[in-house]
Amino acid sequence: MKQPIVITTAITGSQPRKKDNPALPVTPSEQIESTHEAFEAGSSLVHIHVRDKDENSSSDPELFGQVQEGVRKHCPGMIIQFSTGGRGREADQRGAMMYLKPDMASLATGSVNFPTMIYENPPELVESLAASMKEHGVKPEVEVFDAAMLYNAVKLSEAGKIPKPLHVQFVTGIPGAIPTRRKLLEFLVDELHELAPDATWSAMGIGGRQFEVNKWTLEMGGHARTGFEDNVKLDRETLAPNNAALVTLIADVAGEYDRYPASPEEARNLLGLAPVA
Ligand code: ZN
Repeated sequence: MKQPIVITTAITGSQPRKKDNPALPVTPSEQIESTHEAFEAGSSLVHIHVRDKDENSSSDPELFGQVQEGVRKHCPGMIIQFSTGGRGREADQRGAMMYLKPDMASLATGSVNFPTMIYENPPELVESLAASMKEHGVKPEVEVFDAAMLYNAVKLSEAGKIPKPLHVQFVTGIPGAIPTRRKLLEFLVDELHELAPDATWSAMGIGGRQFEVNKWTLEMGGHARTGFEDNVKLDRETLAPNNAALVTLIADVAGEYDRYPASPEEARNLLGLAPVA
């Protein structure tokens, strides 16, 4: 029997708008439209960063609120996830929009080197973001950039600081963080299954290997992530015209792995989220 796969679309990210990707959605209306296209193509979860008027990464709750409102209206039931990522944002602002109660928010459970910076997530910041999510009923998506972050997340969940079941995103392919190696992903997924048997997981391959990783997760029983935040091309050369085209790549091959794109209701059920009223 075919099993559903939750396809996450990371529509924008925090990198500057590149000249070679004019299709990157940056304003709230562009973001809502791009999310809607991805939703229609089979995505049931949207991962959101917002930009200010100069297109810099922002923590402005007003902007997060606008995107959330539009997505709720145009993409009924789609899971909304806000990024609390640190690139270009002050630590004390990273959870400023949590009171808007999105379904989920990203939570990196440790620090790691990126090519030109340290992605700093000291223990007190991780705990305060986790506490804020708990207070507002927001489910964390644990972002694992390095192996230790998996074990940190399990520890936080055992201590009741992250609610169960865990949902983990393995972020592979950023130089300095875990590389895109199938053996490594298999090991990490095995560890997750052993330490948190009820957990769900997804993985991504930044730097041109996203679709390869998508096929691994289809095969391994995980969920998938795609979108312009991680990758802008359909293959080695062709620029994706929009986020939806990247979702379609996954939807089109899912059947070969006995999977199909989860509906919003199925996605909510799989991740232990409340159904839409
Ligand atoms: Zn992100």
